[in-house]
Amino acid sequence: MSEVLYSVRMRAAQGGPHELGGHHISGAECIVTLDKVGEMAQSFANRALHHSKGEPDFINIVVDMIPETTLQYIPYVSIEEHYTADIKESHELAISLLHKSPISLMAIHKAFQYLQDLPCSMRGAMLVDSITGERLDVGDRGVRVSHMDSIDNERIGCNTHMKEALVLASKVQSCEGILGELCWSDDPDYTVGYVSFCGVYHRIPHMKAIGSDIGGRVFFIDKNARLETIIEYLENTPVIVRK
Ligand code: AMP
Repeated sequence: MSEVLYSVRMRAAQGGPHELGGHHISGAECIVTLDKVGEMAQSFANRALHHSKGEPDFINIVVDMIPETTLQYIPYVSIEEHYTADIKESHELAISLLHKSPISLMAIHKAFQYLQDLPCSMRGAMLVDSITGERLDVGDRGVRVSHMDSIDNERIGCNTHMKEALVLASKVQSCEGILGELCWSDDPDYTVGYVSFCGVYHRIPHMKAIGSDIGGRVFFIDKNARLETIIEYLENTPVIVRK
């Protein structure tokens, strides 16, 4: 019999809980066996308390068991690394890469505009129609991808930020009805972003100004897809990413 697995998730905010208007500081999650649950909860608490975005006054750590029948194994996106000189060049590159997918130029330009116009970071991702560029998600929370982790971490050999982005991007790429993703971080020290489509993660430097704590994600949605099915998969279906 295979071992029972648990999802451990942390979110931390300043000025109260997120749902009462608190400012998001940090979030993390993993899927582990029972003997690792305490260790991971401790390490997530430490991470929340020592974050460059400030000191949280709200930390929520949730642990729940994953029913074996719901767990799915998915492949990693492959990685292509790009080199650019500044934000302008990075955005031009991101646009030209995304345009190789079935996503329209109008939708790509609107997605950049949505991210650039954000007054503060959302907790989740915007869902955007891949042809018209219209926003499909409701409210200002966005859709949070959750219940995911990877095995073979040590073989990937990259920083925590990139590892987490790769796991998230892999889950997003494995979701039927999503044609691509655009992202840059809300971490003030981390200006690397990416676009991903057709199973490839294009890592691009200088996607935003250093010191900015506004980041975001856009998922481009196929017009024939059922939004409820996409959201249920992203938020609740447990996945483990592996080579
Ligand atoms: P990060 O790469 O963690 O700095 O996140 C950058 C932005 O992506 C955040 O400001 C959120 O808007 C969004 N985001 C972060 N985590 C998630 C997630 N688990 N699911 C969906 N969107 C997320």
